[in-house]
Amino acid sequence: MKLETARVLSHEQVYEDTFLMWLSCPPIARGASPGRFLMIHCADGYDPLLPRPMSFHRFRDNDDERQFAILYDVRGRGTDWLSQRQAGDQLTLFGPLGRGYAVKRDAQNLLLVAGGLGVAALIVLADEAIKRGKAVTLLQGARTASKLYPTELLPKEVEVLSATDDGSAGHHGLVTDLLSDHLPWADQGFTCGPNAMFSSMSG
Ligand SMILES: Cc1cc2nc3c(=O)[nH]c(=O)nc-3n(C[C@H](O)[C@H](O)[C@H](O)COP(=O)(O)OP(=O)(O)OC[C@H]3O[C@@H](n4cnc5c(N)ncnc54)[C@H](O)[C@@H]3O)c2cc1C
Repeated sequence: MKLETARVLSHEQVYEDTFLMWLSCPPIARGASPGRFLMIHCADGYDPLLPRPMSFHRFRDNDDERQFAILYDVRGRGTDWLSQRQAGDQLTLFGPLGRGYAVKRDAQNLLLVAGGLGVAALIVLADEAIKRGKAVTLLQGARTASKLYPTELLPKEVEVLSATDDGSAGHHGLVTDLLSDHLPWADQGFTCGPNAMFSSMSG
């Protein structure tokens, strides 16, 4: 695996402090799949030194080229630097890494459970599953309504149920509260979110 250069195709703030960036980098796009991620060097020089991991959020085909997007929140120095990039800028990155989500061939009903920006990694799985004729329900949880992924950006076939910590949208409480109603329907489940969410799901 070697360092690659990607070109920023577009970059916009889609909601609150969450940014969507489309990138062109054919060597990375070739091996990309839902659940895998890439590492982006987020600095002009060597500080911060370590690249930041970002999940593949979406794919699209533009003529013969497969392009990909990342969806990210500004957290610290690296993502703050990233948020200032513009269309036409270049990024140094490597990947794809990780094993990716493995959807069973005979699984028809997929339940996706996203906590916070964990939704970034699950949208692309929803996109690909809908294309293959599967049924997808997305349970998404966030602190407050303005941090929920906008449902109008999802394929219309995806059923979405939301939960917010402050009750400003959907169920007032944790996204995991919604699980018991949907688990019997699901042939397979996928999740991405904070560790506390995984703990409560395994308990
Ligand atoms: C496999 C994987 C995939 C991921 N995919 C995504 C994705 O698709 N989208 C996404 O948004 N994120 C994703 N993340 C998380 C993302 O990589 C991190 O948010 C990012 O690396 C943060 O980098 P940063 O330099 O902006 O923040 P950092 O500077 O590394 O800070 C991270 C956190 O630590 C806090 N912090 C930093 N310095 C201090 C300090 N001195 N004192 C106290 N607190 C401090 C910050 O406030 C922040 O909350 C992923 C992570 C992994 C492991």
